[in-house]
Amino acid sequence: PETFETSRRLYERACKVMPGGNTRTTVYINPFPIYVTRGEGCRVWDVDGQVFYDCINNFTAMIHGYTQPEMNAAVTDQLALGTAFGAPTLSEIELAELLIERLPAMDQIRFANSGTEGVMMAIKAARAYTNRPKIVKIEGAYHGSYDFAEVSLDSSPSNWGDMPASTAYAKGTPEGVLNDVLVVPFNDVEALKAVFAAHGETIAGVLIDPMPNRAGLIPARKDYLEALVEIAHGAGALVIFDEVISFRLGYSGAQGLWGIRPDLTALGKIIGGGFPVGAVAGRADVMAVFDPSRGKPALPHGGTFTANPVTMRAGLAAMRALTPEAFAHLDALGEFLRNGVNAALEKVGLPGRCVGLGSLFKVHFTSGPITDYRSVYPGPVEKKRLDAFHKGLLNRGVLSASYGLFALSTPMTMEDAGNILQAIEDTLAEIAAAG
Ligand code: PMP
Repeated sequence: PETFETSRRLYERACKVMPGGNTRTTVYINPFPIYVTRGEGCRVWDVDGQVFYDCINNFTAMIHGYTQPEMNAAVTDQLALGTAFGAPTLSEIELAELLIERLPAMDQIRFANSGTEGVMMAIKAARAYTNRPKIVKIEGAYHGSYDFAEVSLDSSPSNWGDMPASTAYAKGTPEGVLNDVLVVPFNDVEALKAVFAAHGETIAGVLIDPMPNRAGLIPARKDYLEALVEIAHGAGALVIFDEVISFRLGYSGAQGLWGIRPDLTALGKIIGGGFPVGAVAGRADVMAVFDPSRGKPALPHGGTFTANPVTMRAGLAAMRALTPEAFAHLDALGEFLRNGVNAALEKVGLPGRCVGLGSLFKVHFTSGPITDYRSVYPGPVEKKRLDAFHKGLLNRGVLSASYGLFALSTPMTMEDAGNILQAIEDTLAEIAAAG
């Protein structure tokens, strides 16, 4: 890319009407973000006319990239019929049937407008079902912006005792929220046992993403997830999978990949085909907390744009295009890039490791074993390298998340993956040369 001048000017304009020029903390980039005009397939164009491979894909949501023909047709057909009614439509039943068919442990589903809301409803459902107040979550794991789900998202080394303390993410978080969230390190069975021994009777559920992106994109060990289910159920608590991202790992999501049967699952991102979406799915007896057919439900939940037919139709088209063959293609792209990045790190002699599964990967510039959030917590050198990695790729026409995440899309070909790898190799060589 030659210049980011127009993006810089737009950012200056944005700063006058939005705090820090930003309406979405997750896309904030110092000194300014690049502003996009359009996308097509696996590429996006910025306001300065430059083209990039998009390895962010709206933070994993756009699994088919942009302007996928079936998705576009589904949306334009629906536009002609109206976009959102104060009444249900056939489309919500069809998407519910498709998702329930793909998730054997889930009997029923309920839609919402964001992953945040899907997680919130799952937590509230666990509380309503068990009549207990507390949840357990993983240190450093991101689950959207519900107060309870945000606890210890960015726990810093100054808080690192033996067991993670519950720390507030947002200033002003009520003490009561912190009291009702118990935080554990990832992949650590003993820590779970200890928390349940101390608080078992007040725990409604354990919230876990089997490959938590912000906590390092490290896959959970299968024996850990099995122990987690046993420990939670032994204490009468529920297991909540956050599959807002990890549902893109396979035809039956992460739960299919690991062979685990959670009680509740939060969904979002890919199931909306590029439109705002969230959902909670679960066992029928748990989902009964939402049932309004016998008077006020244990857990009432509304939402003006919930299950709107534009989102539902786009989601249906996106999910139907996610065939087993599509997943095999995504897996092959991911495998090629993870292996290639690890070989490149070794070749240029930089400490680091590429982790992930399926269509997701992440680069850590850390040297020790990679096990959990703390093991990949970037120090000053790692931070500098991550930043150089992100900017070096941007200059070579590849968009990645500023913290090292890559999400691939179905329109990418092996040739595209080869070009992305070349840009990564060149950037890593540049970082190694800089020392
Ligand atoms: N859970 C996970 C694992 C996520 O990655 C995200 C969003 N990146 C959310 C929940 C929240 O989803 P949303 O941004 O749609 O509210």
